[in-house]
Amino acid sequence: MEVSKELITALKSKISKKSWEMWFGTFSVKSTTDTLIVFTVGNLFIKDWLSQKYDKKFKEAIREVLGKNIPYVIEDEMADKSFQTKEKKKERLIRKRPVVFSEFNKEYTFENFVVGPFNEEAYDGALEVAKNLSKMNPFFIYGGVGLGKTHLLHSMGNYILKNSPDMRALYVTAEKFMNDLVMSIRSGTTQEFRKSFREKIDVLIIDDIQFLIGKNGIQSELFHTLNHLIDHSKQIVLCSDRTPTQLSEFQPRLVSRFQMGLVVKVYKPDIETGMQIARTFAKRNGILLTNDMAKEIAMSSDNIRTIKGIVTKLVFKSVKRTVNNSLISDVVKDVVGKRTPVRVGNSEKERFFQALSSVFDVLPAELDAKLRTARLSSARQVGMYFARKYMHKTFSELGKWFGRDHSSVMYAYKKVDESLRKGNSKIREKISILQKLLHTESEKSVS
Ligand code: ADP
Ligand code: MG
Repeated sequence: MEVSKELITALKSKISKKSWEMWFGTFSVKSTTDTLIVFTVGNLFIKDWLSQKYDKKFKEAIREVLGKNIPYVIEDEMADKSFQTKEKKKERLIRKRPVVFSEFNKEYTFENFVVGPFNEEAYDGALEVAKNLSKMNPFFIYGGVGLGKTHLLHSMGNYILKNSPDMRALYVTAEKFMNDLVMSIRSGTTQEFRKSFREKIDVLIIDDIQFLIGKNGIQSELFHTLNHLIDHSKQIVLCSDRTPTQLSEFQPRLVSRFQMGLVVKVYKPDIETGMQIARTFAKRNGILLTNDMAKEIAMSSDNIRTIKGIVTKLVFKSVKRTVNNSLISDVVKDVVGKRTPVRVGNSEKERFFQALSSVFDVLPAELDAKLRTARLSSARQVGMYFARKYMHKTFSELGKWFGRDHSSVMYAYKKVDESLRKGNSKIREKISILQKLLHTESEKSVS
């Protein structure tokens, strides 16, 4: 076999089929000598991409086939056509968009996303932003682990790819953003790094930005990148496990940038939606869950990733065992472990505390404890008001729930009532989310 064919074969064996099809369509070996290997590709963008992503693979393949390290270069075909003026070349490059700018997980779509009260705010926001790019900027999603944030980011990417094919959307994790930046600094190519993030992108999606806590230099670069993009009406989408204000170790200028657009939260799933999600996952794999089974799964998970993990294991085990309550219990124990299930029991108080903790970002156990912080006090007061007004609890019942005396409960009720009368929209909003999570939508006022 001639050397160029061998090189291609060697390379192909190192690269996933999907990436090969996506990126190597125009790839070929132009010449091979003892001192230099020349590859060619269709355009400058693919060239950049390949040398960034596959440098190691190229070197390995060369070493394998030729028995030693020989330097290589990648040329883009357009550069070859010397009759083209520089300007013309640029024009073509800009119009010739690469097939896919960034790989989005095909499974993570809006269609595959189960919507419930706990995540509809984030879902609606994500869809709206994907439909109307650069109207709400930046778009910031936050919430705990395994609640579907990354899924939503990819859904936006897939949606944009399909519906606005002229828009170049890029998804990166904050970690990759940092690694790329560090690499570019090391290799003296920060200008290219900046260009690739500032000039070649219409939608920049960055996942898990809490990763950059304490990394001041990277934050500065991010800040300038965001400003540049927003000034040029490009869409920014950011995601974090905490609110912008809780990113307190971030530079204040970044935090205030984050808050300027639309900020949405994904809450923990309520049991009903958790059950529905368990059923959906199972059904996709040909397993029908009874109410009891779905409930056991939902009750032992406070996030979707765990629900998915349980169902995946269940599917695996169902090859050899019948799906019944005892199998479900085994699998749940396997996945969740021996620690107390997340949702201990299902009493009214426990369900209520679960929802309250999710809305106020506190732990359920803190609610009836002695600890006092502004956040906790506000969670307790709104909780007492809510349970009195919408769940018909008496002041003394609430005193027991929260470990407070009768008069503090009355005081809390009055205080929240007054704030609402004065038009406190923050509290109003929390209450409406609680209503959704707890399915107490209609006002069964007791007063
Ligand atoms: P996060 O980024 O918030 O930690 P992920 O987006 O990675 O969470 O979600 C964890 C897993 O659960 C993924 O496999 C995702 O597809 C799935 N998932 C999360 N939320 C939903 C949902 N509402 N509907 C369907 N699947 C979901
Ligand atoms: Mg994630």
